[in-house]
Amino acid sequence: MPPFASNVVLIAGGVGGARMAEGLARALPAGALTVIANVGDDDDFYGLRVCPDIDTLIYTLSDHIDRKQGWGVADDTVRALDVLGTLAAPTWMKLGDADFGLHIWRSWQLAAGNSLTKVTQEAAMRLGARARIVPASDDPVRTKLRTADGWMDFQPWFVGRRCEPEVLELRYDGAEKAKAGPEALAAIEAAELIVFAPSNPLLSIEPILAIDGFRAIIADSRAPKIGVSPLIGGKAVKGPLSRLMAGLGMRTSSSGVAMRYSGLLDGFAIDTQDLPEADELQGRGLSVLPTDILMRDPQDAERLAAEILAWTAVLQEHRKQAAS
Ligand code: GDP
Ligand code: CA
Repeated sequence: MPPFASNVVLIAGGVGGARMAEGLARALPAGALTVIANVGDDDDFYGLRVCPDIDTLIYTLSDHIDRKQGWGVADDTVRALDVLGTLAAPTWMKLGDADFGLHIWRSWQLAAGNSLTKVTQEAAMRLGARARIVPASDDPVRTKLRTADGWMDFQPWFVGRRCEPEVLELRYDGAEKAKAGPEALAAIEAAELIVFAPSNPLLSIEPILAIDGFRAIIADSRAPKIGVSPLIGGKAVKGPLSRLMAGLGMRTSSSGVAMRYSGLLDGFAIDTQDLPEADELQGRGLSVLPTDILMRDPQDAERLAAEILAWTAVLQEHRKQAAS
């Protein structure tokens, strides 16, 4: 069992975040993992609050997820959406019937004055998620993208236009005024290990780090901080990351991702096929774990999580020896 068995924090977006969360939840004792979720993708549909990253985390960690898609509830139906279509409402956001249940409950609870932190934790617990899930903030943070068509909201770009047109600039509206969520803060303060999931750095992790004080709180934590690359051979396992990075003039490599977390990480896990990048990462002061970072199924995610935990334990031991 790793030495940091009791307080592990994962900073996460949706699909990549949820896969890593599932691996860690399986590799750690019950109750050890807290997942801090991105809220930059949240939006309102038909008056209901939808939190796509939180939902993907809840569904994955409670085994309700549609594993083929990576999001949504398995075997869900779309009868509500069909009615909305008949009523001439826009239906590009694919919300299933079971999924609607969660959005209705969340919106009802929020309208009654409960915080997003409370509502999220309760939903995760009641639906059977095998880790604590807390939003990065209770305040609104909304990712906006500037394209040739002007500034767009996140979901109309991501789902509505399938990641078109090309992104020229990003901003996280509200992040500077937002406060870190109380449970997110408490989790980081108690953390014995902080893992940056292989989530999209620009769309999932940076909207969290942009929240007032968040970067500093993580930088100040004395826990080891380990990142996992979302790119393998310069390509995203899923989603628009490499195109997004290239369009914004960034290098589409694991080192390019690690640079986004400059000053925050002690180590970075990269794929074995990206071993040539290890020198550069080490030159930036990072320890490097080259391994198979593709999570094919929950067992495979657990294998990666266990490797990361064992490797971090060795890093910690070296640190202690160097300090004494
Ligand atoms: P989203 O919010 O649903 O877009 O998901 P995230 O931001 O959490 O994760 C998206 C990123 O996860 C993509 O850039 C993928 O490359 C990465 N990803 C997905 N599956 C895996 C995997 O099995 N291994 C690794 N290393 N990255 C993955
Ligand atoms: Ca997302």
